[in-house]
Amino acid sequence: MLQNTDEDIARAGAILRRGGLVAIPTETVYGLAANALDGDAVAHIFEAKGRPQDNPLIVHISDLSQWAALVREIPDRAMALAKAYWPGPLTIILPKSDIIPDEVSAGLDTVAVRFPSMRTAQKIIDAAGVPLAAPSANLSGSPSPTCARHTMDDMRGRIDAVLDGGDCNFGVESTVVTLATEVPRLLRPGAVTPEELREVLGEIEIDEAVMGKLKEGVKAASPGMKYKHYSPKAEITIVKSTLEAFCQFTEQMKDKPNVFALCFDGEQEHIPLPCVTYGRESDALTQSHRLFTALRELDERGAGVVYARCPSTEGVGMAVYNRLLRAAGFSVMKL
Ligand code: AMP
Ligand code: MG
Repeated sequence: MLQNTDEDIARAGAILRRGGLVAIPTETVYGLAANALDGDAVAHIFEAKGRPQDNPLIVHISDLSQWAALVREIPDRAMALAKAYWPGPLTIILPKSDIIPDEVSAGLDTVAVRFPSMRTAQKIIDAAGVPLAAPSANLSGSPSPTCARHTMDDMRGRIDAVLDGGDCNFGVESTVVTLATEVPRLLRPGAVTPEELREVLGEIEIDEAVMGKLKEGVKAASPGMKYKHYSPKAEITIVKSTLEAFCQFTEQMKDKPNVFALCFDGEQEHIPLPCVTYGRESDALTQSHRLFTALRELDERGAGVVYARCPSTEGVGMAVYNRLLRAAGFSVMKL
C-alpha cells in the first residue's frame, strides 16, 4: 500500500510509466489506473477486474490542455461544459483521436475523458506524465470501492499497488455525457445533475438505460450500463412504498434467516429486520457517499435477501437510484 506522500506519488507515477497498474483515489471512487496510451498496459486492467472486453474506459487528465490530443476536436459546447464542471465528477465523450488504443475505447470510435478534482489524483497523473485510463477499482460486478480497504479487498495480488488517499468525497462514479451525438445525451447519472448539464447545454436526452433496463436487442450507448453491477452477493429488491407499508411487508419476513433491510437513517427502530442504513431519506448526497459501503456491509454481515427502501430520483438521487437498480439486478416491487 502506498501512502499519500510526494515520495509514494512519485513511485506510483514510475509504476504507471513502465506499464504497471496502480489503484488511485479520486473524488468519485477508487480507480484502477494504467497508461491510457499503452494498449498492453490497459489490457491488464481488464484482466485484473474481470471486466467484459466491450466495456470502454474513462481517460483521466490533470490539465485541460491534455484533452485536445485525445479527441478529434473540441467543439464549443464541450469546452463550455468543461469550463463549468472541470475539474470534477463529469466525464465527456467525444470522437477519439488516433492515439487512443482500441483497448481503451473497446472498439468504439469515441473516447470518454475526465479531469478529476482530487488533488492527489491530479498529482499521480502528473507523476505518470501520461493520461491514465481508470475504471473503478472493483472486481467487475461488485460495488465500486470508496476507500483503500475496499480496493485492497478486491485487488489484492492482482495489481502492483494501491495508493491510500482516504475516503472518496462523492462515492458514486462520475456523470457520463456524450457529445458525440447531435443532442447531448446523459449515459450515466452522477454528482453533476441533469439540471446542471442543461444549464450549459440546453436540451439533453436521458439515455433509456439510466432509469431502467435496456430492452432485449437494443444496443447500449454506454456498454457499462447494460450489466447487473455494483452488486453484493445478496439478492436485493427495491421496494417502492411508504415507510409504514414497508414495515408491514417486512413484518412477515422477520423470522426468516439472513433477510435484511437497506433503509434510511432513523428508520431502523421501525423496521422489524436487521438494518443497514445509507443516509437520511432527504439527503441524496450522503446516500451517494454511503451506498457502496452499505452494499459491502450487507455482504460482511451475511445478508442473503435484502429489501431496500427506494431513494428519490431527483438531482443526485438519480445517480443513487441508478446504482441501486443495478445492484438489485433491476428487481423492483411496488406496495
Ligand atoms: P467505470 O470506468 O467503471 O466507471 O465505467 C466507465 C463507464 O463509462 C462505463 O459505463 C462505460 O460503458 C462508459 N464509457 C466509457 N467510454 C465510453 C464511450 N466511449 N462511449 C460510451 N460509454 C463509455
Ligand atoms: Mg465500474
